[in-house]
Amino acid sequence: MTDSTEQLAPMPADWRRALAVVAHPDDLEYGCSAAVAAWTDEGREVTYLLATRGEAGIDTIDPVTAAPLREREQRASAAVVGVSEVVFLDHKDGVIEEGLALRRDITAAIRRYRPELVITLNHRDTWGGTAWNTPDHRAVGRATLDAAGDAGNRWIFPELAERGLQPWDGVRWVAVAGSTTPTHAVDATAGLERSVQSLLEHRSYIEVLTDQDPEAYCRTFLTANAQGVAARFGGRPAVSFEVFGR
Ligand SMILES: [Zn+2]
Repeated sequence: MTDSTEQLAPMPADWRRALAVVAHPDDLEYGCSAAVAAWTDEGREVTYLLATRGEAGIDTIDPVTAAPLREREQRASAAVVGVSEVVFLDHKDGVIEEGLALRRDITAAIRRYRPELVITLNHRDTWGGTAWNTPDHRAVGRATLDAAGDAGNRWIFPELAERGLQPWDGVRWVAVAGSTTPTHAVDATAGLERSVQSLLEHRSYIEVLTDQDPEAYCRTFLTANAQGVAARFGGRPAVSFEVFGR
């Protein structure tokens, strides 16, 4: 662990478009949607790219039923924080393979949306060395970090150029949410309540997950997370990221 009082830097602000790439519906809502709300308030464009529809995420609902339900909930959840474009890839929930097919799909999206900032979720084996991460999070996080470079190289995935997706070498940062070694943070004050409402849109998932009142559960979880970062961000509740510059 790093020094627990060392101050985090404010996130870079000189960008207009972000692409957030995660494995499952709810990954961004657990991870960083208060930051997304703050960004869209400032007029920035944020697009969500999900590798799966989270169809294997609810034990009591079979995947065929869960996929469209979770897709709907994700779109509603994105709308709460000002994100209107949500794109789903057709990788299979729980068994996403880290490999060229995934990298190509993410590269294609980066070339299409031309973001300066790419967001993803913890790509490491563990959450802080104590809890094992899921294979989907590892695969998508790592492939996203890789694809940020692939997007700018015309000789990698040349078939994408044939589909009209020209190289985009404009990604300046990849910011990893949920990292236990963060470097930067975004003030969560303005976006916190919307992040609660955004997570709450994943109702079918949350109702199975907890016996608590869903809204109280979302508020408690996200407030604790934001307060947990405050000591390292001038006392302000915040969302932290580990930023990789490019
Ligand atoms: Zn997930």
